[in-house]
Amino acid sequence: MSGKGHLTIVGAGLAGGLLATLLAQRGWQVDVFERRGDPRVKGYAGGRSINLALAERGLHALRAAGADGAVLDKAVMMRGRMVHSLDVGEQLLRYGKDDSEVIWSVSRGELNITLLHAAERAGAKLHFDQRLESVDFDAKRAMFVDDTDGKRTEHAFTALLGADGAGSALRAAMKSRAGFDERIESLGHGYKELEIPPTADGDFRIEANALHIWPRGHYMCIALPNDERTFTVTLFLPLEGEPSFANVRTGADARALFQRDFADAVPMIPDLDADFESNPVGTLSTLYLDRWHLDGRAVLLGDAAHAMVPFHGQGMNCAFEDCVALADHLDASHDGGTPDLAQAFEAFERERLPNARAIQAMALENYLEMRARVDDADFLLQRDLERE
Ligand code: FAD
Repeated sequence: MSGKGHLTIVGAGLAGGLLATLLAQRGWQVDVFERRGDPRVKGYAGGRSINLALAERGLHALRAAGADGAVLDKAVMMRGRMVHSLDVGEQLLRYGKDDSEVIWSVSRGELNITLLHAAERAGAKLHFDQRLESVDFDAKRAMFVDDTDGKRTEHAFTALLGADGAGSALRAAMKSRAGFDERIESLGHGYKELEIPPTADGDFRIEANALHIWPRGHYMCIALPNDERTFTVTLFLPLEGEPSFANVRTGADARALFQRDFADAVPMIPDLDADFESNPVGTLSTLYLDRWHLDGRAVLLGDAAHAMVPFHGQGMNCAFEDCVALADHLDASHDGGTPDLAQAFEAFERERLPNARAIQAMALENYLEMRARVDDADFLLQRDLERE
Protein backbone atom coordinates (compact mmCIF):
# COMPACT_ATOMS: atom_id res chain seq x y z
CA MET A 1 0.00 0.00 0.00
CA SER A 2 1.51 3.32 -1.05
CA GLY A 3 -0.36 5.09 1.77
CA LYS A 4 -2.14 7.87 -0.11
CA GLY A 5 -4.36 8.32 2.92
CA HIS A 6 -7.33 6.77 4.69
CA LEU A 7 -10.95 6.92 3.52
CA THR A 8 -14.12 5.49 5.05
CA ILE A 9 -16.98 4.34 2.81
CA VAL A 10 -20.50 3.99 4.24
CA GLY A 11 -22.48 1.29 2.41
CA ALA A 12 -21.14 -1.79 0.59
CA GLY A 13 -23.88 -1.92 -2.04
CA LEU A 14 -23.20 -1.40 -5.73
CA ALA A 15 -21.46 1.97 -5.54
CA GLY A 16 -19.71 1.20 -2.23
CA GLY A 17 -18.28 -2.06 -3.58
CA LEU A 18 -16.97 -0.52 -6.79
CA LEU A 19 -15.60 2.62 -5.12
CA ALA A 20 -13.78 0.55 -2.48
CA THR A 21 -12.18 -1.53 -5.27
CA LEU A 22 -11.06 1.49 -7.30
CA LEU A 23 -9.64 3.37 -4.32
CA ALA A 24 -7.85 0.39 -2.82
CA GLN A 25 -6.37 -0.48 -6.25
CA ARG A 26 -5.03 3.08 -6.44
CA GLY A 27 -3.30 2.81 -3.08
CA TRP A 28 -5.81 4.38 -0.67
CA GLN A 29 -6.39 2.70 2.66
CA VAL A 30 -10.11 1.93 2.69
CA ASP A 31 -12.58 0.84 5.38
CA VAL A 32 -16.15 0.04 4.33
CA PHE A 33 -19.05 -0.17 6.78
CA GLU A 34 -22.24 -1.95 5.68
CA ARG A 35 -25.41 -2.24 7.74
CA ARG A 36 -26.34 -5.70 6.39
CA GLY A 37 -24.55 -9.00 6.93
CA ASP A 38 -21.98 -10.29 4.44
CA PRO A 39 -24.02 -11.54 1.44
CA ARG A 40 -21.21 -13.96 0.58
CA VAL A 41 -21.94 -15.74 3.87
CA LYS A 42 -25.57 -14.95 4.63
CA GLY A 43 -26.99 -14.80 1.10
CA TYR A 44 -28.08 -11.59 -0.54
CA ALA A 45 -30.73 -9.68 1.40
CA GLY A 46 -31.08 -6.68 -0.89
CA GLY A 47 -34.86 -6.68 -1.07
CA ARG A 48 -35.06 -4.55 -4.22
CA SER A 49 -35.10 -5.32 -7.95
CA ILE A 50 -33.55 -8.74 -8.47
CA ASN A 51 -31.96 -7.80 -11.78
CA LEU A 52 -30.72 -4.62 -13.39
CA ALA A 53 -29.86 -3.37 -16.86
CA LEU A 54 -26.14 -2.68 -17.14
CA ALA A 55 -25.26 -0.29 -19.96
CA GLU A 56 -21.99 0.94 -21.47
CA ARG A 57 -21.61 3.72 -18.86
CA GLY A 58 -21.62 1.17 -16.05
CA LEU A 59 -19.56 -1.33 -17.96
CA HIS A 60 -16.90 1.28 -18.61
CA ALA A 61 -16.59 1.82 -14.85
CA LEU A 62 -16.40 -1.92 -14.18
CA ARG A 63 -13.61 -2.15 -16.76
CA ALA A 64 -11.66 0.48 -14.84
CA ALA A 65 -11.75 -1.86 -11.81
CA GLY A 66 -11.05 -5.00 -13.87
CA ALA A 67 -14.43 -6.41 -12.77
CA ASP A 68 -16.19 -6.42 -16.17
CA GLY A 69 -15.23 -10.00 -17.12
CA ALA A 70 -16.61 -11.59 -13.94
CA VAL A 71 -19.84 -9.58 -14.26
CA LEU A 72 -20.40 -10.28 -17.97
CA ASP A 73 -19.79 -14.01 -17.42
CA LYS A 74 -23.11 -14.17 -15.57
CA ALA A 75 -25.01 -11.52 -17.52
CA VAL A 76 -27.67 -12.02 -20.20
CA MET A 77 -27.36 -9.83 -23.28
CA MET A 78 -30.41 -7.76 -24.29
CA ARG A 79 -30.30 -6.50 -27.86
CA GLY A 80 -33.50 -4.47 -27.72
CA ARG A 81 -36.95 -3.93 -26.33
CA MET A 82 -39.49 -6.64 -27.13
CA VAL A 83 -42.76 -4.74 -27.10
CA HIS A 84 -45.89 -6.77 -26.34
CA SER A 85 -48.57 -4.46 -27.61
CA LEU A 86 -52.30 -5.11 -27.64
CA ASP A 87 -52.76 -4.35 -31.36
CA VAL A 88 -49.38 -4.95 -33.11
CA GLY A 89 -48.37 -8.06 -31.08
CA GLU A 90 -44.67 -8.68 -30.34
CA GLN A 91 -42.09 -6.44 -31.96
CA LEU A 92 -38.34 -6.15 -31.30
CA LEU A 93 -36.93 -2.62 -31.20
CA ARG A 94 -33.16 -2.98 -31.39
CA TYR A 95 -30.96 -0.66 -29.30
CA GLY A 96 -28.43 -0.37 -32.11
CA LYS A 97 -27.79 -1.48 -35.67
CA ASP A 98 -26.25 -4.77 -34.50
CA ASP A 99 -25.07 -6.62 -31.37
CA SER A 100 -22.21 -4.20 -30.80
CA GLU A 101 -24.80 -1.92 -29.13
CA VAL A 102 -26.57 -3.93 -26.46
CA ILE A 103 -27.28 -3.77 -22.73
CA TRP A 104 -26.94 -6.56 -20.15
CA SER A 105 -29.24 -8.01 -17.54
CA VAL A 106 -27.31 -8.68 -14.32
CA SER A 107 -28.34 -10.07 -10.96
CA ARG A 108 -28.10 -7.42 -8.23
CA GLY A 109 -26.99 -10.01 -5.66
CA GLU A 110 -24.30 -11.59 -7.85
CA LEU A 111 -23.00 -8.20 -8.96
CA ASN A 112 -22.76 -7.04 -5.36
CA ILE A 113 -20.89 -10.19 -4.35
CA THR A 114 -18.46 -9.86 -7.31
CA LEU A 115 -17.69 -6.29 -6.27
CA LEU A 116 -17.15 -7.24 -2.60
CA HIS A 117 -14.66 -9.93 -3.63
CA ALA A 118 -12.90 -7.41 -5.87
CA ALA A 119 -12.78 -4.81 -3.07
CA GLU A 120 -11.30 -7.26 -0.61
CA ARG A 121 -8.79 -8.55 -3.16
CA ALA A 122 -7.69 -4.97 -3.76
CA GLY A 123 -7.06 -4.53 -0.02
CA ALA A 124 -10.20 -2.77 1.28
CA LYS A 125 -11.36 -3.76 4.77
CA LEU A 126 -15.06 -4.66 4.87
CA HIS A 127 -17.09 -4.40 8.10
CA PHE A 128 -20.58 -5.96 7.97
CA ASP A 129 -23.53 -5.55 10.33
CA GLN A 130 -22.37 -1.98 10.92
CA ARG A 131 -25.09 0.62 10.42
CA LEU A 132 -24.05 4.25 10.48
CA GLU A 133 -26.05 5.80 13.30
CA SER A 134 -24.59 9.25 13.88
CA VAL A 135 -21.61 11.43 12.99
CA ASP A 136 -19.63 13.95 15.04
CA PHE A 137 -18.12 16.03 12.22
CA ASP A 138 -16.03 18.17 14.62
CA ALA A 139 -14.34 15.24 16.35
CA LYS A 140 -14.38 13.26 13.05
CA ARG A 141 -15.90 10.24 14.71
CA ALA A 142 -18.73 8.09 13.35
CA MET A 143 -20.95 5.79 15.44
CA PHE A 144 -21.95 2.42 14.00
CA VAL A 145 -24.50 -0.04 15.42
CA ASP A 146 -24.62 -3.79 14.93
CA ASP A 147 -28.37 -4.39 14.63
CA THR A 148 -27.96 -8.09 15.41
CA ASP A 149 -26.83 -7.44 18.99
CA GLY A 150 -27.20 -3.67 19.50
CA LYS A 151 -23.43 -3.18 20.07
CA ARG A 152 -22.12 0.31 19.23
CA THR A 153 -18.62 1.02 17.86
CA GLU A 154 -16.98 4.39 17.30
CA HIS A 155 -14.72 4.88 14.29
CA ALA A 156 -12.34 7.78 13.73
CA PHE A 157 -12.36 9.00 10.12
CA THR A 158 -10.49 11.33 7.81
CA ALA A 159 -13.45 11.59 5.41
CA LEU A 160 -16.72 9.74 4.96
CA LEU A 161 -17.81 8.72 1.45
CA GLY A 162 -21.57 8.11 1.49
CA ALA A 163 -22.65 5.19 -0.71
CA ASP A 164 -25.49 4.28 1.66
CA GLY A 165 -28.33 4.52 -0.82
CA ALA A 166 -31.52 6.54 -1.20
CA GLY A 167 -32.28 6.65 2.53
CA SER A 168 -28.68 7.68 3.36
CA ALA A 169 -27.95 8.15 7.06
CA LEU A 170 -24.83 10.13 6.13
CA ARG A 171 -26.94 12.54 4.05
CA ALA A 172 -29.25 13.05 7.04
CA ALA A 173 -26.25 13.78 9.28
CA MET A 174 -24.72 16.22 6.74
CA LYS A 175 -28.09 17.92 6.28
CA SER A 176 -28.60 18.51 9.97
CA ARG A 177 -25.06 19.87 10.23
CA ALA A 178 -24.96 22.10 7.15
CA GLY A 179 -28.64 22.65 6.20
CA PHE A 180 -28.57 21.14 2.70
CA ASP A 181 -31.54 21.86 0.47
CA GLU A 182 -33.16 18.47 -0.15
CA ARG A 183 -36.29 17.74 -2.19
CA ILE A 184 -37.75 14.27 -2.67
CA GLU A 185 -40.43 14.02 -5.36
CA SER A 186 -42.57 10.91 -5.31
CA LEU A 187 -43.59 9.61 -8.73
CA GLY A 188 -47.01 8.51 -7.46
CA HIS A 189 -46.38 5.07 -8.98
CA GLY A 190 -45.06 1.92 -7.32
CA TYR A 191 -43.81 -1.47 -8.46
CA LYS A 192 -44.11 -5.11 -7.59
CA GLU A 193 -41.93 -8.02 -8.72
CA LEU A 194 -43.16 -11.39 -10.05
CA GLU A 195 -41.35 -14.29 -11.72
CA ILE A 196 -41.50 -16.21 -14.98
CA PRO A 197 -39.85 -19.59 -14.21
CA PRO A 198 -38.05 -21.71 -16.86
CA THR A 199 -39.97 -24.24 -18.99
CA ALA A 200 -40.11 -27.89 -17.89
CA ASP A 201 -37.01 -28.45 -20.10
CA GLY A 202 -35.18 -25.72 -18.24
CA ASP A 203 -35.33 -23.15 -21.03
CA PHE A 204 -36.37 -19.50 -21.19
CA ARG A 205 -40.13 -19.19 -21.82
CA ILE A 206 -39.82 -16.10 -24.03
CA GLU A 207 -37.05 -14.51 -26.10
CA ALA A 208 -34.06 -14.42 -23.75
CA ASN A 209 -32.04 -11.63 -25.36
CA ALA A 210 -34.52 -8.81 -24.92
CA LEU A 211 -35.98 -6.47 -22.35
CA HIS A 212 -39.70 -7.23 -22.58
CA ILE A 213 -42.25 -4.43 -22.20
CA TRP A 214 -46.02 -4.60 -22.01
CA PRO A 215 -46.96 -0.91 -22.36
CA ARG A 216 -50.53 -0.10 -21.35
CA GLY A 217 -50.79 3.69 -21.26
CA HIS A 218 -50.71 4.73 -17.59
CA TYR A 219 -49.02 1.58 -16.43
CA MET A 220 -46.86 -1.28 -17.73
CA CYS A 221 -45.02 -4.52 -17.06
CA ILE A 222 -41.42 -5.24 -17.93
CA ALA A 223 -39.39 -8.47 -17.76
CA LEU A 224 -35.61 -8.91 -17.67
CA PRO A 225 -33.89 -12.29 -18.15
CA ASN A 226 -31.78 -13.97 -15.46
CA ASP A 227 -28.92 -16.36 -16.16
CA GLU A 228 -30.83 -19.23 -14.46
CA ARG A 229 -33.38 -18.89 -17.31
CA THR A 230 -36.05 -17.13 -15.33
CA PHE A 231 -37.37 -13.62 -15.92
CA THR A 232 -38.02 -11.04 -13.26
CA VAL A 233 -41.28 -9.30 -14.13
CA THR A 234 -41.93 -5.85 -12.69
CA LEU A 235 -45.45 -4.45 -12.68
CA PHE A 236 -45.49 -0.63 -12.48
CA LEU A 237 -48.85 0.85 -11.44
CA PRO A 238 -50.08 4.19 -10.07
CA LEU A 239 -50.56 4.30 -6.29
CA GLU A 240 -54.05 5.83 -6.71
CA GLY A 241 -56.76 5.69 -9.39
CA GLU A 242 -57.98 2.85 -11.59
CA PRO A 243 -56.14 0.52 -11.87
CA SER A 244 -53.67 1.16 -9.04
CA PHE A 245 -52.06 -0.54 -6.08
CA ALA A 246 -54.90 1.02 -4.04
CA ASN A 247 -57.46 -1.24 -5.71
CA VAL A 248 -55.32 -4.11 -7.06
CA ARG A 249 -54.54 -5.50 -3.61
CA THR A 250 -54.97 -9.26 -3.60
CA GLY A 251 -53.64 -12.07 -5.76
CA ALA A 252 -57.12 -12.45 -7.26
CA ASP A 253 -57.22 -8.70 -8.14
CA ALA A 254 -53.81 -9.04 -9.79
CA ARG A 255 -54.88 -12.09 -11.79
CA ALA A 256 -57.97 -10.24 -13.02
CA LEU A 257 -55.81 -7.26 -14.08
CA PHE A 258 -53.35 -9.55 -15.88
CA GLN A 259 -56.12 -11.50 -17.60
CA ARG A 260 -57.57 -8.22 -18.89
CA ASP A 261 -54.38 -6.32 -19.80
CA PHE A 262 -51.41 -8.72 -19.94
CA ALA A 263 -53.21 -11.89 -21.10
CA ASP A 264 -50.20 -13.36 -22.97
CA ALA A 265 -48.12 -13.17 -19.76
CA VAL A 266 -50.63 -14.99 -17.50
CA PRO A 267 -49.71 -18.60 -18.46
CA MET A 268 -46.03 -17.78 -17.93
CA ILE A 269 -46.44 -16.61 -14.30
CA PRO A 270 -47.77 -19.68 -12.47
CA ASP A 271 -47.30 -18.14 -9.01
CA LEU A 272 -48.83 -14.79 -9.93
CA ASP A 273 -51.33 -14.68 -7.04
CA ALA A 274 -48.86 -15.86 -4.39
CA ASP A 275 -45.98 -13.65 -5.65
CA PHE A 276 -48.29 -10.65 -5.75
CA GLU A 277 -49.43 -11.18 -2.19
CA SER A 278 -46.01 -11.92 -0.71
CA ASN A 279 -43.88 -9.28 -2.48
CA PRO A 280 -43.99 -5.69 -1.20
CA VAL A 281 -44.98 -2.64 -3.27
CA GLY A 282 -41.81 -0.61 -3.87
CA THR A 283 -42.13 3.16 -4.12
CA LEU A 284 -40.32 5.39 -6.62
CA SER A 285 -39.02 8.91 -6.19
CA THR A 286 -36.40 11.37 -7.36
CA LEU A 287 -33.97 12.98 -4.90
CA TYR A 288 -32.78 16.52 -5.66
CA LEU A 289 -29.95 17.78 -3.48
CA ASP A 290 -28.22 21.14 -3.95
CA ARG A 291 -24.91 20.03 -2.40
CA TRP A 292 -23.21 16.69 -2.17
CA HIS A 293 -20.26 17.47 0.11
CA LEU A 294 -19.36 18.96 3.46
CA ASP A 295 -15.94 20.55 2.88
CA GLY A 296 -13.29 17.77 3.01
CA ARG A 297 -15.11 15.73 5.64
CA ALA A 298 -17.92 14.02 3.74
CA VAL A 299 -19.26 13.46 0.24
CA LEU A 300 -22.27 11.60 -1.20
CA LEU A 301 -22.49 9.51 -4.37
CA GLY A 302 -24.88 7.11 -6.08
CA ASP A 303 -28.46 6.95 -4.82
CA ALA A 304 -27.46 8.77 -1.61
CA ALA A 305 -26.82 11.86 -3.78
CA HIS A 306 -29.27 11.48 -6.66
CA ALA A 307 -31.78 8.61 -6.40
CA MET A 308 -33.90 8.47 -9.54
CA VAL A 309 -36.83 6.53 -10.97
CA PRO A 310 -35.62 3.36 -12.75
CA PHE A 311 -37.05 3.93 -16.24
CA HIS A 312 -33.83 4.75 -18.00
CA GLY A 313 -32.09 1.84 -16.28
CA GLN A 314 -29.35 4.29 -15.30
CA GLY A 315 -29.33 4.61 -11.47
CA MET A 316 -26.61 2.02 -10.97
CA ASN A 317 -24.85 2.99 -14.21
CA CYS A 318 -24.74 6.60 -13.04
CA ALA A 319 -23.58 5.52 -9.55
CA PHE A 320 -20.73 3.55 -11.19
CA GLU A 321 -19.70 6.61 -13.19
CA ASP A 322 -19.65 8.58 -9.92
CA CYS A 323 -17.19 6.04 -8.48
CA VAL A 324 -14.68 6.53 -11.31
CA ALA A 325 -15.06 10.32 -11.23
CA LEU A 326 -14.60 10.48 -7.45
CA ALA A 327 -11.55 8.18 -7.54
CA ASP A 328 -10.05 10.35 -10.33
CA HIS A 329 -10.65 13.61 -8.43
CA LEU A 330 -9.18 12.13 -5.25
CA ASP A 331 -6.07 11.06 -7.16
CA ALA A 332 -5.77 14.47 -8.81
CA SER A 333 -5.91 16.24 -5.44
CA HIS A 334 -3.06 14.18 -4.10
CA ASP A 335 0.14 15.15 -5.96
CA GLY A 336 2.35 13.26 -3.52
CA GLY A 337 1.58 15.42 -0.46
CA THR A 338 -1.46 15.58 1.80
CA PRO A 339 -4.56 15.24 -0.38
CA ASP A 340 -6.85 18.25 -0.58
CA LEU A 341 -10.10 16.35 0.00
CA ALA A 342 -12.31 19.45 0.00
CA GLN A 343 -11.03 20.35 -3.45
CA ALA A 344 -11.56 16.78 -4.70
CA PHE A 345 -15.13 16.62 -3.37
CA GLU A 346 -15.94 20.06 -4.79
CA ALA A 347 -14.59 19.12 -8.23
CA PHE A 348 -16.48 15.80 -8.14
CA GLU A 349 -19.75 17.56 -7.32
CA ARG A 350 -19.17 20.18 -10.03
CA GLU A 351 -18.63 17.48 -12.63
CA ARG A 352 -21.30 15.00 -11.62
CA LEU A 353 -24.26 16.98 -10.22
CA PRO A 354 -25.38 18.43 -13.60
CA ASN A 355 -25.01 14.99 -15.22
CA ALA A 356 -27.10 13.37 -12.51
CA ARG A 357 -29.81 16.02 -12.92
CA ALA A 358 -29.92 15.37 -16.67
CA ILE A 359 -30.20 11.60 -16.20
CA GLN A 360 -32.91 12.07 -13.55
CA ALA A 361 -34.96 14.13 -16.04
CA MET A 362 -34.43 11.55 -18.80
CA ALA A 363 -35.51 8.74 -16.45
CA LEU A 364 -38.80 10.54 -15.74
CA GLU A 365 -39.41 11.20 -19.44
CA ASN A 366 -38.65 7.61 -20.32
CA TYR A 367 -41.51 6.34 -18.15
CA LEU A 368 -43.91 8.04 -20.56
CA GLU A 369 -42.13 6.53 -23.53
CA MET A 370 -41.97 3.02 -22.08
CA ARG A 371 -45.53 2.78 -20.81
CA ALA A 372 -47.22 4.58 -23.68
CA ARG A 373 -45.21 5.61 -26.71
CA VAL A 374 -43.52 2.29 -27.46
CA ASP A 375 -47.08 1.04 -28.00
CA ASP A 376 -47.76 3.75 -30.55
CA ALA A 377 -47.44 2.43 -34.13
CA ASP A 378 -46.56 5.89 -35.56
CA PHE A 379 -43.87 6.32 -32.95
CA LEU A 380 -42.37 2.90 -33.73
CA LEU A 381 -42.38 3.64 -37.47
CA GLN A 382 -40.73 7.02 -36.92
CA ARG A 383 -38.05 5.41 -34.79
CA ASP A 384 -37.35 2.72 -37.35
CA LEU A 385 -37.06 5.34 -40.09
CA GLU A 386 -34.68 7.42 -37.98
CA ARG A 387 -32.49 4.38 -37.47
CA GLU A 388 -32.11 3.65 -41.21
P1 FAD B 1 -27.69 0.84 -2.94
O1 FAD B 1 -27.56 -0.18 -4.00
O2 FAD B 1 -29.04 1.10 -2.36
O3 FAD B 1 -26.67 0.46 -1.78
C1 FAD B 1 -26.64 1.12 -0.55
C2 FAD B 1 -25.95 0.24 0.47
O4 FAD B 1 -25.79 0.97 1.68
C3 FAD B 1 -26.75 -1.02 0.81
O5 FAD B 1 -25.92 -2.14 0.82
C4 FAD B 1 -27.31 -0.71 2.20
O6 FAD B 1 -27.52 -1.87 2.99
C5 FAD B 1 -26.20 0.16 2.77
N1 FAD B 1 -26.67 1.07 3.83
C6 FAD B 1 -27.83 1.77 3.87
N2 FAD B 1 -27.89 2.51 4.99
C7 FAD B 1 -26.75 2.27 5.66
C8 FAD B 1 -26.22 2.75 6.91
N3 FAD B 1 -26.91 3.62 7.68
N4 FAD B 1 -25.00 2.30 7.31
C9 FAD B 1 -24.28 1.43 6.54
N5 FAD B 1 -24.74 0.93 5.37
C10 FAD B 1 -25.95 1.36 4.94
N6 FAD B 1 -30.27 1.03 -12.12
C11 FAD B 1 -29.70 0.69 -13.31
O7 FAD B 1 -28.63 1.21 -13.65
N7 FAD B 1 -30.30 -0.21 -14.15
C12 FAD B 1 -31.50 -0.78 -13.86
O8 FAD B 1 -32.03 -1.57 -14.64
C13 FAD B 1 -32.14 -0.41 -12.65
N8 FAD B 1 -33.33 -0.95 -12.31
C14 FAD B 1 -33.91 -0.62 -11.13
C15 FAD B 1 -35.16 -1.15 -10.82
C16 FAD B 1 -35.79 -0.81 -9.65
C17 FAD B 1 -37.15 -1.37 -9.37
C18 FAD B 1 -35.16 0.06 -8.73
C19 FAD B 1 -35.82 0.45 -7.45
C20 FAD B 1 -33.90 0.61 -9.03
C21 FAD B 1 -33.28 0.28 -10.25
N9 FAD B 1 -32.03 0.80 -10.58
C22 FAD B 1 -31.46 0.50 -11.78
C23 FAD B 1 -31.35 1.76 -9.69
C24 FAD B 1 -30.27 1.08 -8.86
O9 FAD B 1 -30.86 0.04 -8.10
C25 FAD B 1 -29.62 2.09 -7.91
O10 FAD B 1 -29.34 3.28 -8.58
C26 FAD B 1 -28.34 1.51 -7.31
O11 FAD B 1 -28.65 0.40 -6.50
C27 FAD B 1 -27.62 2.57 -6.50
O12 FAD B 1 -26.50 2.00 -5.88
P2 FAD B 1 -25.99 2.57 -4.48
O13 FAD B 1 -24.81 1.76 -4.14
O14 FAD B 1 -25.90 4.05 -4.55
O15 FAD B 1 -27.19 2.26 -3.45
